[in-house]
Amino acid sequence: MGWVLRLVETGTEGAGRDVDVMKIDPGRDLGEISDLGLTLSEAKQLLGRVQQEIVAAQARDHAVLRPQCPSCGRGCHVKDWQHHVVATLFGAVTVRLPRFRCVGCGHNATGITWPSHCRSTPELDQMRAHLSALMPFRVAAGMLSHLLPVTAGLSPETLRGHTLKIGERLRAVAPAVEQAPEVSSITLTTDSTFIRSRDDGERHLEVRVGNVETATGGRQVFGAVAKSETDIAALIRRSLDAVGRTARTTVTAFTDGCAGLQSILADAGIAQPPIADWFHIAMRLQHAKLAASGLSTDEPGRMAAKTVIVTEVERLHWRIWNGKAKDAQITFDRIRKVMHVYKSERGHQTRGVASRKLWHALHEIDSYLRGQSARLVNYAERYRAGLRVGTSVTEGTANFLVNRRMNKSQQMRWSRRGADLLLQVRCAVYNGALGSGIGQQFEPLGCSGAELALAA
Ligand SMILES: [Zn+2]
Repeated sequence: MGWVLRLVETGTEGAGRDVDVMKIDPGRDLGEISDLGLTLSEAKQLLGRVQQEIVAAQARDHAVLRPQCPSCGRGCHVKDWQHHVVATLFGAVTVRLPRFRCVGCGHNATGITWPSHCRSTPELDQMRAHLSALMPFRVAAGMLSHLLPVTAGLSPETLRGHTLKIGERLRAVAPAVEQAPEVSSITLTTDSTFIRSRDDGERHLEVRVGNVETATGGRQVFGAVAKSETDIAALIRRSLDAVGRTARTTVTAFTDGCAGLQSILADAGIAQPPIADWFHIAMRLQHAKLAASGLSTDEPGRMAAKTVIVTEVERLHWRIWNGKAKDAQITFDRIRKVMHVYKSERGHQTRGVASRKLWHALHEIDSYLRGQSARLVNYAERYRAGLRVGTSVTEGTANFLVNRRMNKSQQMRWSRRGADLLLQVRCAVYNGALGSGIGQQFEPLGCSGAELALAA
């Protein structure tokens, strides 16, 4: 048994015309599971040939058209023919297309709306950018050629070029996102992270990322490399509009400690000063609690000191949660008073010693509280009122937007422009604003205040 795949043209004009696309080999019996259905290589061949035939038919139809002159409205005749080689998702195709000239005024027309230097279809461009946003250029190229009969434009350098071009377009023109209905409140979080720079003189590039969320599940992410051409304040405004911000919407912003982010928020028109994200505070408290619980109790003096310290760290948590961070000094003083019993532990070999870790963690909290004092609020009160106290996805945003693709290996080094444009594509992918939308990659939005309070 064998088959011939035949395309038959339908409709009044082409009725009956058919063409054999491909012979499919006989000799597959189901005795072997590997003989079940088509193989990948057959499928790629089939797609490539069907594409060739469809394009050939399109070109035939196009060749008989005689457009009207766009300037005087009279008829055109064929001036000459031109070959176009265009890369598609299903292989490169060659089309021979007429160029027209008006019989009246001599105006030239092409009958196509795409520029004659166009070398690839938008779908292929988007697919290359989409995959490159999710994985290294080399891997994306390999995956495309493995699965599809794409033949041209698959070097990592070409993929990079195409991807950055799409990034540039995204930066210039906001991707068309469906306008969301008005929302009463939006939570906005921003954070920053670092990637390795490939430029001399600069080891790292700062990357600012964030997301906006509504109670109804609307969400958009944004990001930009600091000092790049991307205006992150404009991105923030765009994101807020996309999830339904109006003049009546309350926007509550959360940030980590970075001062740069605060001025960006002001630029984006967010009048209310941002709140220090509880998530960041809770993480630091967690470090201190772990260190305190690991303190040794090998002497009676240390047993007593540990009890005091564990209690005080809990109290510190309570104070910050309840908006009494300025009383944190009382905790630090009380701990300092009993810490001397651990002094002998902190000799030359200080790494990994719990008392050392505790000291370090407390120092971190102290300097964080000093830096953020203006932005700390009564988290308990907000929480009881059903308001957000932060969002654990802040850290996650930096992770999935930047680190997973751009920090994965130590060898990855980025130019400011390249990193920024790739980030624009990544954001568009996650926002579902690029092409076919292989699917949003967000973690589920399950992070309620209750969870945060528990984590705290
Ligand atoms: Zn004319």
